[in-house]
Amino acid sequence: MYHISDIKKFERCEKYFWLYTHQPVKYSPFVYHNENMTELCKKLLSINEPYFEGQANDEGEKALQAISEYSCLVNARFVYQDLRIKIPFLIKQDDHSFDVYFTYTSCYPKEGEAQSIADHMYVLKQLQIPVHHIYAIHLNAQYVRQGDLDVHELLIIDTYLFNHKNKAHQKIEELVDTCSRNLDEVLVRMREVQQVEHVESKRTTMCTRGLKCPYFEKCFETPSPTSVLNLVQSAGKLEMQEAGIQDMRDVDLAKLEGTRHQYAQIMAAKCFDGIYFDTFAMYSWVHDNIQYPISYLDFEWETYVYPPYDGMKPYDVLTFQYSLHIEKEHGAELEHKQFLGKQDCREAFIQHLLANIPETGTIMVFNMEGAEKLRLMQLSEQFPQYREQLVAVCDRMIDLSLPFSTGNVYLKEMAGMYSLKKLVTIFSDYRYSDLDISYGMDAVKNWRMLAHSDDEQSKEIEQHLFEYCAMDTYAMVLVYHGILDLLNEKSKNLYSSS
Ligand code: SF4
Repeated sequence: MYHISDIKKFERCEKYFWLYTHQPVKYSPFVYHNENMTELCKKLLSINEPYFEGQANDEGEKALQAISEYSCLVNARFVYQDLRIKIPFLIKQDDHSFDVYFTYTSCYPKEGEAQSIADHMYVLKQLQIPVHHIYAIHLNAQYVRQGDLDVHELLIIDTYLFNHKNKAHQKIEELVDTCSRNLDEVLVRMREVQQVEHVESKRTTMCTRGLKCPYFEKCFETPSPTSVLNLVQSAGKLEMQEAGIQDMRDVDLAKLEGTRHQYAQIMAAKCFDGIYFDTFAMYSWVHDNIQYPISYLDFEWETYVYPPYDGMKPYDVLTFQYSLHIEKEHGAELEHKQFLGKQDCREAFIQHLLANIPETGTIMVFNMEGAEKLRLMQLSEQFPQYREQLVAVCDRMIDLSLPFSTGNVYLKEMAGMYSLKKLVTIFSDYRYSDLDISYGMDAVKNWRMLAHSDDEQSKEIEQHLFEYCAMDTYAMVLVYHGILDLLNEKSKNLYSSS
């Protein structure tokens, strides 16, 4: 049995669809769905007994029968050929047609959803279920929780979908009209592809757009560090590879955007030691910006789809942990401070951090704009009484990812990446894989478990969480010192050659 999500996979990439049907991978959400959207929408739409509610494996007959018996159907499953669809809400009108409601756990469901809605409509039409109007129910980005969740403020019933700028300027029904199509042909092609023994892997932008495809490693061998495929911000790299150019050293300059990062990559590939290092830029970055004591700081947080506590909006985060390594002087023994809270620990987190972070010196973070700085600014909105102190902490932050993201430092082993996990393996022997928790999402999952664990389990989880977060700040120490060593070495070479 196919679902609409299988059609999406098929149209994204035939190999992806084929692999998913033969070797499905488990999808793990990055955010916590801490409420049940169906139950919230029942309240919003004032759905009262009696109504029909479908189950996951319904084969379609039950919902078809319920159409004549009930005026409201919730999560009804309908089957056309070998395609099963689920309609979140169908509400019968006086003329016996139905208003159809699609639900979205996002604040701005995009116009791209219209194709999926049109495909659902195709199935309803084939089953001769008349549709009156189509609505989208989505989250209200402006909603701020105070007290109990208010579904009438939290959720919006909309007749529009949103463009990439989150603007609503086209009605769902108009968009659906333009997307309507005959699904029979698509289903025929899907069956054919599913049955073949092998589907060729063809690298396209789909393989790495947004999140990297979960089958990427199955489809392609890891390219060599200096492969053209590792060029960053390059729209022409696939074209170059198809034309037979494999290595950055042979790159067609006319096909490059000519960014600083690309320049650094090509220069590192050409250098005997595989390193590009802008000594003057790095001298200035270190000497103009960084003062001791250095506070290496890292946070862990959970993202909630529905605001769980007062003052929070949809998709707000709750920062539950920090690790702080303090280096008072260059090379001095490190001091370590940490915090780990449970449930609504936002204010305790702020107070602990402010009490323990040194009052002077640089606060070193990795990717601060999208992470630590953003988290503190969000906390300062929720707890304005700490705003001044939190802003002062942000003002002292320096982003350790900057030397790499700007292309001032590039080592060929980076292979186009500059995550902290990647960098620490280049600058040291440390490996996150040695820890019980080795990914940010593992940390979040473990934190979720803390709320339901007994004392013994809690102690073990806390220990693993402390180790993981401390590893991040220690990794920053290693990477920063790696930069200092390179600066030292390159500066000496500069003077000895002049
Ligand atoms: S890596 Fe690319 S070719 Fe392979 S399944 Fe994913 S999208 Fe398709």
